[in-house]
Amino acid sequence: MTFTSFSFDKRIDACVKACGYETPTPIQNQTIPLILQGHDVMGQAQTGTGKTAAFALPILQRLLDGGPAGNTPKALVLAPTRELALQINQNFNELSRNTGIRTAVVIGGVSMGSQIRALRSANIVIACPGRLIALLAQKAVSLRGVETLVLDEADRMLDIGFLPDIKRILAKLPAKRQNLLFSATMPKAMQVFARQLLVEPKSVKI
Ligand code: AMP
Repeated sequence: MTFTSFSFDKRIDACVKACGYETPTPIQNQTIPLILQGHDVMGQAQTGTGKTAAFALPILQRLLDGGPAGNTPKALVLAPTRELALQINQNFNELSRNTGIRTAVVIGGVSMGSQIRALRSANIVIACPGRLIALLAQKAVSLRGVETLVLDEADRMLDIGFLPDIKRILAKLPAKRQNLLFSATMPKAMQVFARQLLVEPKSVKI
């Protein structure tokens, strides 16, 4: 498989090339077509497998397909730690140069002001659950237009005890949406949660 077989927008193809990606990784080969088709996906993969681009590329493609973006975010990515949120954001930005797509990172430990400003024009929000809850309480962002939800390193989020926060965030999302769940491990609690969240999911295991 090559990246051209996904028929991405030429601006995305140019970013993939600029990043030095020559061939898709196994998780990318399996997951990208499923996400482009609109399926819910349960992906079992470790960090380092190219899993961020596996969800970022089809999300970016679907945003470009959707025409001019509205004024609320269309995709929400939840991550357990600030470091991971920043890495995901960097990967999204590298893969969307010259597309006009904007991201906002919502993490604790830094001031809210710049995050609130970024949220006003963000098409994609990458967030840790705690700070997102705080900003939702301030009505700094509406999640009513979210079409795709990603839970990355979901097992770590459950370990940290983010499940109640995640449920509060889910309640703010439209019922009809695409759900993508990525986890390195699949313990019982994770399987139970996945069954509640995902609708007829396709499973990918690397
Ligand atoms: P991740 O698993 O998303 O943390 O990605 C691990 C690293 O692999 C990151 O530095 C990515 O930029 C890089 N990467 C992702 N996809 C590819 C690819 N198809 N070819 C080469 N490197 C890649």
